[in-house]
Amino acid sequence: MRPPRAKAADAPRSGKARAGCHFPAVETRLVKTLLSETELQAGISRLAGRIQSDYAGRSLTILGVMTGSVVVMADLIRRLELPLRVGVVQASSYKGGLTSGPLSIAAELMPDVADRDVLILDDIFDTGRTMLGMLDHLQSLGPRSVRSAVLLLKEGRQEVEYRPDYVAFRIPDLFVVGYGLDYRDQWRQLPYVATLEPSDLADVGP
Ligand code: 5GP
Ligand code: MG
Repeated sequence: MRPPRAKAADAPRSGKARAGCHFPAVETRLVKTLLSETELQAGISRLAGRIQSDYAGRSLTILGVMTGSVVVMADLIRRLELPLRVGVVQASSYKGGLTSGPLSIAAELMPDVADRDVLILDDIFDTGRTMLGMLDHLQSLGPRSVRSAVLLLKEGRQEVEYRPDYVAFRIPDLFVVGYGLDYRDQWRQLPYVATLEPSDLADVGP
């Protein structure tokens, strides 16, 4: 997979927030586009194509890890022509800032996965601990198979041996927001993936 480029053409321009900006909460000096809408949609189509052919003739249960996977989930499932169940699971080791805490899994909303082919979908694979915890939990519920898919894999950050089965984009070690990813529960609605500079992080959000 070709590494993503930061594209100046799509990037919110440096300088002050533009009048009439589509996303008024965004101080445009704080974000730089890493993956544009066009690049994201092409990557999701490639991802859907691989999943579609790997699961051809089977039915699939996709489990989206809340909340970061909501946007990629919506785009991905609409490209899959398979008998499909969709569910969500809450697992977080990330409390809205930059550091990870202990993993907690709240499975109340999860559909029955026993004897099913399950694909866990998350927004980003960073240390890998969230996905590994999810897989351990899922395996204990007796699925037929479990695989994992992520929109982004942050290179050089992994603390576990495991790697996801499907990765749409590999990105450098930068803190990113948008397309489902947040900083302090904001910025998820951006239709592109953007970086926040460490020096700007304290200025963002409430
Ligand atoms: P891991 O357990 O792999 O270290 O972390 C996975 C979780 O951390 C993701 O699901 C996401 O919630 C959060 N995370 C890791 N890196 C980033 C990032 O660059 N931006 C945002 N918004 N969240 C991140
Ligand atoms: Mg997450």
